[in-house]
Amino acid sequence: MRAVVTGGAGFLGSHLVDRLLKEGWDHIVVLDNLITGSTDNIAHLAGDGRVRFIKHNVSDYIYVDGPVDFVFHFASPASPDDFKKHPIPVLKVGSLGTHNALGLAKAKGAKFMLASTSEVYGDPLISPQPETYWGNVNPVGPRAVYDEAKRFAEAMTMAYRHFHNVDTRIVRFFNTYGPRMRLDDGRVVPNFVKQALLGEPITVYGDGSQTRSFGYYEDTIDGVYRLASSDYHEPVNIGTEEERTILQFAKEVIAVTGSKSEIVHVPAAQDDPKQRRPDLTRARTILGYEYKTSLTDGLTKTVEYFQGRLGAERGTGF
Ligand code: NAD
Ligand code: UDP
Repeated sequence: MRAVVTGGAGFLGSHLVDRLLKEGWDHIVVLDNLITGSTDNIAHLAGDGRVRFIKHNVSDYIYVDGPVDFVFHFASPASPDDFKKHPIPVLKVGSLGTHNALGLAKAKGAKFMLASTSEVYGDPLISPQPETYWGNVNPVGPRAVYDEAKRFAEAMTMAYRHFHNVDTRIVRFFNTYGPRMRLDDGRVVPNFVKQALLGEPITVYGDGSQTRSFGYYEDTIDGVYRLASSDYHEPVNIGTEEERTILQFAKEVIAVTGSKSEIVHVPAAQDDPKQRRPDLTRARTILGYEYKTSLTDGLTKTVEYFQGRLGAERGTGF
């Protein structure tokens, strides 16, 4: 099996590459422009003849030689901080990038998977969120560049399925964390863990009553692999039901790190979704998916990783 993974030098994309290799796939082309990713995430694969890295912006025309069996379109910045820093590239990779990746799949007769997001539900008015919920998105707010691009990407994916007969899949990830996230990514897991490890104040945005359900990457990638191996074409939520308020989460990070950091409240982010928890009925019944990693176990492994990164940055072996 030969795959193209866009965004394959990012957090989830690089873990997907590892999983495909473990499953015996023969050849993987990683397309990534490194806007938020790093070749550090795939450095362990340097010299592995099965993997080819091409630095390329997939919002521009994609050319890959040779046969391709599966295109995984994972390229896109995913942190709200990056939506502010790179609003136009975020819009472009969700729209033009998805169009190009679908075009590649069509040209190669390959299967296709879109990495979509719980953000298509916006600030949801129901909880948990099933795939049948249409969402509550502000089309002109600060998160719109991501949310609307992903909604467009889903519509484009379904149109290629219906009009061009491309064999497509759509996975909607809920908050996923783990090793290979960027320390300065701006998402809550790296922020809190870094702050806790450095003894800095933990910055809770707003009163911290907003909720998230944090999933460990191994479980998420298992869901991706199950979906890739299925022939299901409607969107599927992947994540965990371990819902927490952000304030509770800050306390859990303090407990896992043994940090003396204090919690401070800073102004809330605009349009910050107040609740987020997946309805996993579809993933369970159709894919036999189940998450296995507790937040404490996943956080412990993630903290170890960030300790290593911080040590490498300071050169202390911290
Ligand atoms: P990430 O930032 O670590 O990885 C994204 C990768 O895409 C990076 O390597 C980046 O350089 C690359 N990229 C971005 N734009 C590109 C372009 N135009 N051309 C080529 N490469 C480009 O983020 P992640 O958390 O690994 O997210 C991966 C995918 O999963 C994204 O599509 C994201 O929307 C989706 N997702 C992630 C989460 C999560 O919690 N991690 C949740 C929902 C959806
Ligand atoms: N958050 C926070 N402090 C931070 C970073 C994020 O309180 O330093 C909150 C943010 O307001 C949101 C939640 O944590 O409610 C998750 O934010 P993240 O950026 O990880 O992603 P989101 O789920 O909003 O896409």
